[in-house]
Amino acid sequence: MWRILISCQYALALFATVLVYPMRADEPSVATFWAAAAEVNITPQIGIPLVGPGSASTGVADELFARILVLSDGHQSVVIVTSDLVGVGIPYAEAVGAAIEKKTGIPAGRVMFNCSHTHSGPGASLPEDDTEASYGREVFGKVVAATVDCVSRLEPARLRAGREAVQIGFNRRMPRGDGITMAPNPHGSVVPWVDVLGVYRKDGTRIAILFSYAAHPVVIHSASTLISADYPGYAVAHLRRMLGGGDAESGLLLFAQGCGGNINAFPLKGGLEACSRTGLVLAQAVTRVSLEDVPPAPIRDASLTVQLPLQKPPPVAECKRLLAADPDDQRLVELLQLAKENKPRTMPYPIRGFALGNTLCILSLPHESFCDYQLWADGESPYRDTFVFGYTGGVHAYVATARAYRMGLLGGYEASPRRSGLNSQYRTPPQPVAEQIIKGGITEIWRSLAQSAENQSAQTQSSAK
Ligand SMILES: [Zn+2]
Repeated sequence: MWRILISCQYALALFATVLVYPMRADEPSVATFWAAAAEVNITPQIGIPLVGPGSASTGVADELFARILVLSDGHQSVVIVTSDLVGVGIPYAEAVGAAIEKKTGIPAGRVMFNCSHTHSGPGASLPEDDTEASYGREVFGKVVAATVDCVSRLEPARLRAGREAVQIGFNRRMPRGDGITMAPNPHGSVVPWVDVLGVYRKDGTRIAILFSYAAHPVVIHSASTLISADYPGYAVAHLRRMLGGGDAESGLLLFAQGCGGNINAFPLKGGLEACSRTGLVLAQAVTRVSLEDVPPAPIRDASLTVQLPLQKPPPVAECKRLLAADPDDQRLVELLQLAKENKPRTMPYPIRGFALGNTLCILSLPHESFCDYQLWADGESPYRDTFVFGYTGGVHAYVATARAYRMGLLGGYEASPRRSGLNSQYRTPPQPVAEQIIKGGITEIWRSLAQSAENQSAQTQSSAK
């Protein structure tokens, strides 16, 4: 196998490295896909802190899972990991990819690690990170072992993809006065559909169904201190009941979070029963979808990390004033330090794309990206079926639109430099130019996938001569 290494340099601190893995010229054409799926229980110990209630968990409403889908064209394989975790850092997602590469030979660049972002679940960290470390190690080991198991069980598969209209989420950025407050905005952008990938054996039995929707799993949120996968978990439970099965033999059900950074599932803080109803609406949409065949074709991949320039901290004098008003706020201590250093800083934004022939593209974006990126990518995509995952490859901060960032302090929770921007480890949000850089990165992924297809077809032709 050989690789092409393409380096691209953009202005504005955009540096991208694209790795493309075309098939070898002597490899036969693809007659079928291969696939396997696995599921591991990752329910943590009771007591682990939960984001939603902002306190320790007191019990388990429903168990948390990581689920793995490996797809192969017989030569190249890609791995999709879905997890009932609020988020993992980029180093964690990369370490999982590296461990999978070591154990299976599948390059780390062909592993997507998606977090559902359930607010009733924990994050998973690497040992050096913090208190969630031992849980993080446990999840890490289980995900890698389950992926190895999948690779050993690959079987011939037929893929079918489709989309069904459904809306269980609402844009949560409501214009009020000069700024944005957090409330349902019926006129705001939203992704009103579920994308569905069905993976079947040759005899028609199910290997897996992967479905993806974009909305914060916050139907439980602070209404309960129980551990839960929120609406994605309930949707899986309803699907299991409606379709039968739910294990590796009878077909696993995987949920991947889309770009739900500015979307809340409804009703916010509705509690367990409301969550079950929301999950049911999503599950029903999955059962309604009409799927079309994805013809067997080579699987290609491209990955690229763009750097998003971060906003400058306020001037030193203003940082000192903020800190004087709240001397115990460690975030402000760090903000003052950044103001004193006054250096340009960036946040990595890893993007990944898997293409199955010219029909299906699975694109993954990191962080809490706004749904506007998913809508844009969907509209621009050259593929018949386009899935866009958010919360994949690492989750460190919200990533809003240029328009939202230009509102400055009035930009609402996700975009204001004093709200989530201050909460993130970077202490300031990205600059408005981030939108342009991300869209450039996505375009570059598609270009690389197409280039890889051309290279491959040229090689096939020359080897046939
Ligand atoms: Zn969030």
